Amino acid sequence: MNEEIPNLTAFDEAALDQAFARLERQAREAAALLSGEQAVEAFRLQWLGRKQGRLNEVSGRWLKTAPAEARRALGLRFNALKAVVEGLLDAALGSGPTDAALAREAIDITLPGTRRLTGAEHLITRTTNEIVSVFAALGYSVGVGPEVETDYYNFECMNFPPGHPARDTQDTLVIANQERRPQRDRLLLRTHTSPVQMRTMEMQPPPVRIVIPGRVHRNEADDATHSSTFYQVEGLCVDANITFSDLKGTLDHAMKALFGSAVKTRLFPSFFPFTEPSADLQISCIFCGGKGCRKCKESGWIELLGCGMVDPAVYAFAAEKQPAYDARKISGFAFGMGVERIAMMKYGVSEIGKFYAGDMRFLEQFV
Ligand SMILES: [Zn+2]
Repeated sequence: MNEEIPNLTAFDEAALDQAFARLERQAREAAALLSGEQAVEAFRLQWLGRKQGRLNEVSGRWLKTAPAEARRALGLRFNALKAVVEGLLDAALGSGPTDAALAREAIDITLPGTRRLTGAEHLITRTTNEIVSVFAALGYSVGVGPEVETDYYNFECMNFPPGHPARDTQDTLVIANQERRPQRDRLLLRTHTSPVQMRTMEMQPPPVRIVIPGRVHRNEADDATHSSTFYQVEGLCVDANITFSDLKGTLDHAMKALFGSAVKTRLFPSFFPFTEPSADLQISCIFCGGKGCRKCKESGWIELLGCGMVDPAVYAFAAEKQPAYDARKISGFAFGMGVERIAMMKYGVSEIGKFYAGDMRFLEQFV
């Protein structure tokens, strides 16, 4: 029960001690019986409540009526009592759930836990990142673009004019119902990541140094080394005074970074509409070191990527939006490689289809 706070008649030390000891005893007795949140809250209101709490009453009745010389002694005892009550409340609040509740929630820490599967990079992602990081270290940034492209970006601005036979080398998957659009606006699945070369040049004047990783699509029959969907990394470097020897040096460095410093490179003439001159780059066979084996068809060399100096016709398209692409003032090179082909060589994969089948038994080997 909430006993009323009596009025104090004497304010000497002994009387104060007695009065506060009595209150403390009452608080301790009440706190000892507390059980449950509601009881604890009632205790808090009874003692610490702002309006009718007992401590409030003590300060109202005793402190205010005390003679001046007793105020200090009274105040000290009041603060001590308040600390005791707050401590009792803390203890009651912190006593936590009952043993029964704890038992219900108990877990057996000797049982095996729930294991979360840790993700890992797919071999295509890992190889893409390896290639990109080689060029990133040379100051290249990464460019990306849409997989559904217009005829203009995929072909025309890359110097494949409409009707030109070079288009036949990239059997193209086109989006349906585009016939009413002008040819350059018709949509298709990009056959190479080269459109991003133009998209990048349109957005920024030279110098440009980018690598362009991404998925591309061609209407090809799937076999051990071909897939209608595959990944490329292209590169483009445009600046003043870029020469063919820059191309050679850059790609030789990149191949050594990817396949080991013992790898040699050589170039053969080739043709791509958007580069002139164009070349195929071969590396010395990483399986036999160049002696000749089945993998390199006894030649000691493996063809790996296409490259060349950017054709002035491509700059002419870029100059429509960025006049600084003036073939008389700037030059540059481009290259492109298949990610799967490099991943197959580096990780000894014999069928390209394994990359896409989603077979965990295959994929887990490379985690
Ligand atoms: Zn070989």
